[in-house]
Amino acid sequence: MKYTSTRANAPAVTLGPAIAAGLAPDGGLYVPEQMPRVAVDALDPAAPLAELAASMLAPFFAGDALSDQLADMCAEALTFCAPVTPLSWTDASLLELFHGPTAAFKDFGARFLAACMRRLPHDASRPLTVLVATSGDTGAAVAAAFHRVPGIQVCVVYPDGRVSPRQAHQLGCFGDNVRTLRVDGSFDTCQQLVKQALGDAELQAHAPLTSANSISLGRLLPQMTYYAQVSLRHHKQHGEPAHFIIPTGNLGNALACIWARTVGFPIGDIHLASNANATLPDYFAGGVYRARTGVATLANAMDIGAPSNFERLRWLWHGDDAALRQAFAAGSVDDASIRDTIAALAHEHDTVVCPHTATAMCELARLRAAGDQRHWYVVATAHPAKFERVVEPLVGHNVDTPPALQELLARPAHADPLEGNYAALRGELLASVEA
Ligand SMILES: *Cc1c(COP(=O)(O)O)cnc(C)c1O
Repeated sequence: MKYTSTRANAPAVTLGPAIAAGLAPDGGLYVPEQMPRVAVDALDPAAPLAELAASMLAPFFAGDALSDQLADMCAEALTFCAPVTPLSWTDASLLELFHGPTAAFKDFGARFLAACMRRLPHDASRPLTVLVATSGDTGAAVAAAFHRVPGIQVCVVYPDGRVSPRQAHQLGCFGDNVRTLRVDGSFDTCQQLVKQALGDAELQAHAPLTSANSISLGRLLPQMTYYAQVSLRHHKQHGEPAHFIIPTGNLGNALACIWARTVGFPIGDIHLASNANATLPDYFAGGVYRARTGVATLANAMDIGAPSNFERLRWLWHGDDAALRQAFAAGSVDDASIRDTIAALAHEHDTVVCPHTATAMCELARLRAAGDQRHWYVVATAHPAKFERVVEPLVGHNVDTPPALQELLARPAHADPLEGNYAALRGELLASVEA
């Protein structure tokens, strides 16, 4: 299996080099030259996630040095499950993706990426630094996944004062090989600094860097596995494909579901839920694709105005916008509707969801109001306890913190301040390799 660029101007490579590079050299995103077909009928719906993952991801690893270790990597990374909880009042279920160490679905991708990266060849004389800008969830998942991995350092940069207090604590609680910098600036500033560092060849001659953002194939591929598992189980039980509603920001999680359907899993409709950042809903409603600046919402991990994986989606439809628009629906859910959804679910059904999951639950209510009767799997992307400042006042009681999150919150946390300019970040990165 070879991977090419969505911009068709880069040499084809196998999976390992594509993961090591992150972005293709022409600035595009790596995609399989041809999407494989998975022999879905040969898979066991009852198999644990790690086992299913090793079988279904094998075609993506074909021809690469990592393929011999795929089963080990799946066992190492996919140590928690993705349970399905039926809703009592409507024919739908929550697919809970928040049972990993940092209580958001990013743990699946970050842990699998770490399992890949530690096995990729790198220069033993200089540690490789994973540099990550975060608006909250990604940084914690990446820090947890790479914590104490030999030969790899992590540098997390986040906008000071603009993540929830619990998110800030999680970002700073690792220590050892994880360095946390709180930047005087916005998330856009953080992303800009990271981009500049990743493009700075002279810096990287001293301090080799890599990224861990959501365009990495090492994050995308493992996210296919829970959709595969749920769809196999649903199909076995009901003889029908499974339909999903997915809270969407950069389109990483939803694209994984689309890829799972493309390779042959019994997945029916895929409905995207955005917050007030309506780039995708506007496009799917027939507008031209217009990337914009993200606006801040209660579902902050989805505050993205230019979803990076859209380029992969368009590639898969050969650039045919009309056909792509036919293939999916997407809805935009503003903060008032997020609040109403969280409060109504708690008061009427004793069910507590995070603000991101609330966008998908709101879309479910809209589908029902329009007469849709089908069974939907609503993807729950984070535990509500991560966003207690938003959720608790709306539901009127404390939300229990899951044990993994409690453990992180009980550790001391530390983040160093960083001025919001590139010279400051560059200086920190150089100092950390000399230390
Ligand atoms: C990252 C994130 C999302 C958005 O996922 P994408 O892959 O960027 O579309 C949704 N919910 C939560 C809780 C997240 O952390």
